[in-house]
Amino acid sequence: MKTYQTMSKDELTSLKTDLEAKYKEFQGMGLKLDMSRGKPSAKQLDISMGMMDVLNSEVSLQCEEGIDCRNYGILDGIKEARELLGAISEVPADNIIIYGNSSLNIMYDTISRSMTHGVMGSTPWCKLDTIKFLCPVPGYDRHFAITEHFGIEMINVPMTNEGPDMDMVEQLVSSDDTIKGIWCVPKYSNPQGITYSEETVKRFARLKPAAKDFRIYWDNAYSVHHLYEDQQDFCLEILEECEKAGNPDIVYKFTSTSKISFPGSGVAAIATSKNNLADIRKQLTLQTIGHDKVNQLRHVRFFKDLDGIHEHMKKHADIMRPKFEAVIDILEKELSGLGIASWIKPRGGYFISFESMDGCAKDIVSKAKEAGVVMTGAGATYPYGKDPKNSNIRIAPSFPTLDELKQAAELFALCVKLVSVEKLLE
Ligand code: PLP
Repeated sequence: MKTYQTMSKDELTSLKTDLEAKYKEFQGMGLKLDMSRGKPSAKQLDISMGMMDVLNSEVSLQCEEGIDCRNYGILDGIKEARELLGAISEVPADNIIIYGNSSLNIMYDTISRSMTHGVMGSTPWCKLDTIKFLCPVPGYDRHFAITEHFGIEMINVPMTNEGPDMDMVEQLVSSDDTIKGIWCVPKYSNPQGITYSEETVKRFARLKPAAKDFRIYWDNAYSVHHLYEDQQDFCLEILEECEKAGNPDIVYKFTSTSKISFPGSGVAAIATSKNNLADIRKQLTLQTIGHDKVNQLRHVRFFKDLDGIHEHMKKHADIMRPKFEAVIDILEKELSGLGIASWIKPRGGYFISFESMDGCAKDIVSKAKEAGVVMTGAGATYPYGKDPKNSNIRIAPSFPTLDELKQAAELFALCVKLVSVEKLLE
């Protein structure tokens, strides 16, 4: 097979005519598909419906400690929920505070508090001229949106297949005290599905930040979200590593059951050192008398323990795996060997990260949209929506049905070919 780069102008021109005809056919099909966000499909939501039955007017709503979950109280969350979320996060229940329905909300809140009140007694960030965050790229658009919202300057750090470029992280963090944080999705990262290596986690734990209020924002959104039972990624537990390295307060670890039970109606938590938890509670006690304990109870009674979570996640994987494999198969069949694209086959998480030829991503996404398939906006995986190479596209295979997804992936591959040919003919 010839790569597009080695084709003559005439060959490319005739290829373009063929591809345009195929594209017209797709346009005539009236597709209306959404591959833009990492939402579970309705079938995935159905597997958690038993949660609706575990609580009813007949059952006791007392938690294990004998407190009535229908009433106010328990700022940190009920013990059994802290144990369950602790098990998911691989930390002791005493290192956890349960919040409401969204981990993103906790991340926003954590940054907001640092802006207005500082971190463990340090100067509030709003009183400083410049605040910076490191952003491993490609990364999660909503992380970048939070830091942008607060006027925090974002610095791109390239991802490697072991996690962020740690030479760069160490150098920047140790030399610049305006750098106050780094966004990390350490397991099955969004969008690349990369899991940080043991060495990367250890280097994070050993960081020597110039700013004493520097924190690692460790977003453990996909900790139990494997696609394959026999090929699971493993990520070293960071809280323990930080403690061993004499850096116990350097990390905030976030988690939620959004993509375990119901996104938007799950349970979210922060895990961190006792010192950080005490700092957080000072604000939390003013913000709320307590989060939704009925939902915490519902989750614990449905899942019971970590084994229950793993059994449940296998059901998600059974639905997700064929979708990921269908997309990867189509990409391989249609695009491999052409010299115009590369992608990562993940073992978990919610996304496939795709790299087009430089300068093509925006056009590919808009061509797909014109034929009825909505993808995540090109550039979204970079701070300020600016992908310097205009090449990364995040594919989210979870929401459409398998048949729809196959059509969408065929169209996507066609758009990649067409835009690449157009680029080479420029
Ligand atoms: N973190 C990452 C990396 C995500 O991909 C997502 C959702 O896509 C979230 C957080 C959102 O989590 P939550 O629903 O708990 O706010």
